[in-house]
Formats: sequence, C-alpha cells, structure tokens
Amino acid sequence: MTWIIEKRKNCMEIWVTNSTGFNGQLTFKTDAIFVGEGYNDKEYKRSMELAKVIVSALNKYEQTEAEQEGWVCRHCGKSTFETEYDYLADIDEHLGCALEKEQKSMQI
Ligand SMILES: [Zn+2]
Repeated sequence: MTWIIEKRKNCMEIWVTNSTGFNGQLTFKTDAIFVGEGYNDKEYKRSMELAKVIVSALNKYEQTEAEQEGWVCRHCGKSTFETEYDYLADIDEHLGCALEKEQKSMQI
C-alpha cells in the first residue's frame, strides 16, 4: 500500500490517497484524506508541504506495520504486502528474489 498526493478540483484541493491495486489501474481499496485547500499560492504551498509530510509519515508507518506482521522479503528487505500471491514464494519471499538467489547458488 502506497500513499500519494492527489490534487482535485483543478488543484484547489490537496488530498492524500492510497491504493492497493494489482497493477495501479485496477484498484480495490482506497482511502483518502483531505489535507487542505489551494485557492491561492500561499495556501497551495502550505497544503502541499503538509501533504508531503503526511505521505512520507504514512508510507513509513505502512512499512513498519508490514515488517511487524512479517510481510517483508528476507532477500531484499522490501514489503511483500502489496505483491500479488502469484509473485510470492512465501509471505516473506518475493518469487523474483527467490529465483535470483537460486540462480546465484547454481553458479557457485
Ligand atoms: Zn524481495
């Protein structure tokens, strides 16, 4: 799950949204948080600054939560939470990372 900044109403509203989708196009769950308005430059800059802080804090939080629940690849250390089951060897192992490791061990 990744949080991003989303501008709505011709940049007049700044939102922070997340999506858990298969490929970015097909989304099955989203949350949206209204951050602030951007009717003038000062408001816009302030809202964008706040949105950036919120996005980075929430992404950090999601990563921590994934780690606590064991959804982290033991090879690359990245979250496996949003990876499709087809691309996972296990909840803590990307299929790609597992194959890469296997190839390396075969070369030795
Ligand atoms: Zn991995």
